[in-house]
Amino acid sequence: MNYHQYHPIDVVNGPGTRCTLFVSGCVHQCRGCYNQSTWSLHSGHLFTQEFEDQIIADLNDTRIKKRGLSLSGGDPLHPANVSAVLKLVQRVRAECEGKDIWLWTGYVLADLSAEQKQVVDLIDVLVDGKFEKDLADPELEWRGSANQVIHRFTSL
Ligand code: SF4
Repeated sequence: MNYHQYHPIDVVNGPGTRCTLFVSGCVHQCRGCYNQSTWSLHSGHLFTQEFEDQIIADLNDTRIKKRGLSLSGGDPLHPANVSAVLKLVQRVRAECEGKDIWLWTGYVLADLSAEQKQVVDLIDVLVDGKFEKDLADPELEWRGSANQVIHRFTSL
């Protein structure tokens, strides 16, 4: 997997202070997408084991308390990203007590594959659906267009 950007301290992509990772690769080609540079799986930088370790360390850094991890892109549920994202969320669950995981995808929850669902089973909040320019609304919280749905799986 490749990633485009990583913010170890982020207050924009989800509630509270978070670590946010924008992965590379997206097939949805939404009209009006702000992140077209992330569409290619080969864009950005290689997501290494050291980088994964750094995210876990950042989440557990007590100097600046993080509420959790946000995964966006690109699309973290692009089939080519699923195994690396699954490994990361498994580690967050095992090693980062009390941290929540938010994930944004262009896929729709009901259409996810068994592999994609393995990731979703481990997260707290899924924001799903393509960005629909005609339904865009800057007043919406955590989503760009009204068709997108915030699925909260836990009370975190
Ligand atoms: S799912 Fe997101 S990254 Fe992919 S094309 Fe749509 S808006 Fe862009």
